[in-house]
Amino acid sequence: MDSEVVFIGLGNMGLPMALNLVRSGLGVSGHDLMPASVEKFVAGGGTNNPDLVSAIKAAKTIITMLPASRHVESAYFGDHGILAQASPGALLIDCSTIAPESARKVAATASQKGFTMVDAPVSGGTGGAAAGTLTFMVGGSVAGFDLAKPFFEIMGKAIFHAGESGSGQTVKMCNNMLLGILMIGTSEAIRLGMANGMDPKVLSEVMSKSSGRNWTLEVYNPCPGVMENAPASKDYSGGFGVDLMLKDLGQATENALSTSSSIPLGSLARNLYDIHSKSGAGGLDFSSIFNMLGKAK
Ligand code: NAD
Repeated sequence: MDSEVVFIGLGNMGLPMALNLVRSGLGVSGHDLMPASVEKFVAGGGTNNPDLVSAIKAAKTIITMLPASRHVESAYFGDHGILAQASPGALLIDCSTIAPESARKVAATASQKGFTMVDAPVSGGTGGAAAGTLTFMVGGSVAGFDLAKPFFEIMGKAIFHAGESGSGQTVKMCNNMLLGILMIGTSEAIRLGMANGMDPKVLSEVMSKSSGRNWTLEVYNPCPGVMENAPASKDYSGGFGVDLMLKDLGQATENALSTSSSIPLGSLARNLYDIHSKSGAGGLDFSSIFNMLGKAK
């Protein structure tokens, strides 16, 4: 049976997002380079057409959730890529976090070939992906936004049309630079409190109701044991990898150079995550930056 939707990239985010589409009743063929991820998708009720090219040809909608610009460009371009194989009229949605200029490049080629394409990066973490409460920040035409919105309503809660192609990625770039900075600031504050004998749970609870409140403190606390479901309490596994945050801060740094923007804290955050990654933490959740700031007394 042909699937209405092809979903490429079943990682920490893509797997729960694609499974929410399956639960909504859509026929979804899921694809990933890692057989174990495809197996989890099929175990959750999804299907997999082992012939990706024929799956792409048959799909009405193709959604990608890949790590970085280079993965997205290689999935869309080339003789076996999505733009060469998709059927006329297919709707293309890229939910990966990539550089705005890369999103514009893919969308422009898609448009030349007659496809409607939107960039639609997300926020809300793996918890939001599983719960179907992601925020979508969408770049593309109004018509493209309207066509893609029913899919976003299944996978998310807050859905914004940010503007032309690449705008979704621009908003996401700004958001993740702020997120990276906030995670370091929250970690510093909790470490300082602990060094003064504070219980990190009490400290976090009080700051969550005070002017220092932010998402990394309230929802994604970096100190192990403060929040049962946060990656910090699961040995920093799953979640949002250090190397993905490093990629996002690298994109912000390159963009700041090309737009003559001053991002002193964004640049510092990029360097701190880079050092953390080089210490061997690249695959851990980004809240593990907490460990870089030393041990509590
Ligand atoms: P991940 O590394 O867990 O998953 C990416 C998946 O893509 C992997 O399973 C990988 O095997 C697969 N893949 C790579 N190249 C492929 C190809 N050519 N064909 C098929 N599959 C391929 O990453 P993730 O955490 O799921 O993040 C995906 C994207 O979402 C990234 O751009 C990330 O920055 C962004 N994002 C992540 C989070 C988060 O909390 N993890 C939150 C918001 C946005």
